[in-house]
Parts: sequence; structure tokens; C-alpha cells
Amino acid sequence: MAIERTYIMLKPDCVERGLMGQVISRIENKNYRIVDAKMMTLEEPVLREHYAHIADKPFFPDLVRYMTSGPVLAMIVEGENAVKGMRILMGATKFEEATAGTIRGDFACSTSENIIHGSDSVENAEIEIRRFFGC
Ligand code: UDP
Ligand code: MG
Repeated sequence: MAIERTYIMLKPDCVERGLMGQVISRIENKNYRIVDAKMMTLEEPVLREHYAHIADKPFFPDLVRYMTSGPVLAMIVEGENAVKGMRILMGATKFEEATAGTIRGDFACSTSENIIHGSDSVENAEIEIRRFFGC
């Protein structure tokens, strides 16, 4: 196992519902460190890059509307096995499959508006950190 960095983003529904504190607590309780964080409002071009793997899906326009509907909190999270560990803490993409005790399992009410993004591999984590933090 290794110390890894992952890109985490608290999505507009998380910010709007006032859940940032609870989600950050779960990340810190797991002993991961938030090494950088900033509020930002996303626009379509960066979302087309970030979500290139699903840009041709029928739900993509709704996803862009949702992800541009308000600010997000972008974070670099660091720790032992942080990429996979954060995916476990987040829970499944489909909200009805997200287990109780996970962030999505406890807070998400739909598959699109699902509170949190986390990189799915070490390679993508580095790409996403560069995309949103330039480092
Ligand atoms: N998404 C959606 N409908 C779907 C699948 C995904 O609206 O049927 C959205 C959802 O917000 C998800 C994001 O697209 O988090 C990215 O999808 P991905 O498959 O990469 O899931 P994730 O890595 O976020 O678990
Ligand atoms: Mg993904």
C-alpha cells in the first residue's frame, strides 16, 4: 500500500443541502488529509473533459445542468490507499445500490445527484488533480 492523492469533489447538492461538514468529517475520521480545497463553479467545457467517458449518454445534458447549478468544493485528499479507500467511503454510483454507512448510501437520493465525486484510479486522480488544481 502507498500514500496516494485523489481528487474529491463535493457536488452542488452536497453544498446546497449543507452537508459539506458531515462529509468532510467522514473523510477526516478515516484519517485522510485534505491537502488543498477550493470552492468553484464549473462550466460545461471542463465537465466535457471530466466526464468524457459518459459525454455521449442520454443523461449527460442533465448532468451538466446539475453540475453547473451551484458551487462545488474541489479537494485533494491524501492518505494510505486513498483512491480506492475514498471510493469505498463514497459508495456505489447507483444510489439504490449504495450501502448504508457510505456517503452516497446515507445522503444521496438519486443516481445523478449523488453528493460526491472521487477519482476511480491513481492515474485518473493525477489527471483530475492537474485539471482542477493545475498541479
Ligand atoms: N450519472 C448519472 N446517471 C447514470 C450514471 C451516472 O447521472 O446513470 C452521473 C452521476 O452523477 C455520476 C456521474 O454521472 O456520479 C459520473 O458517472 P460515473 O459512472 O463515473 O460514476 P462515479 O465515478 O461518480 O461513481
Ligand atoms: Mg467516475
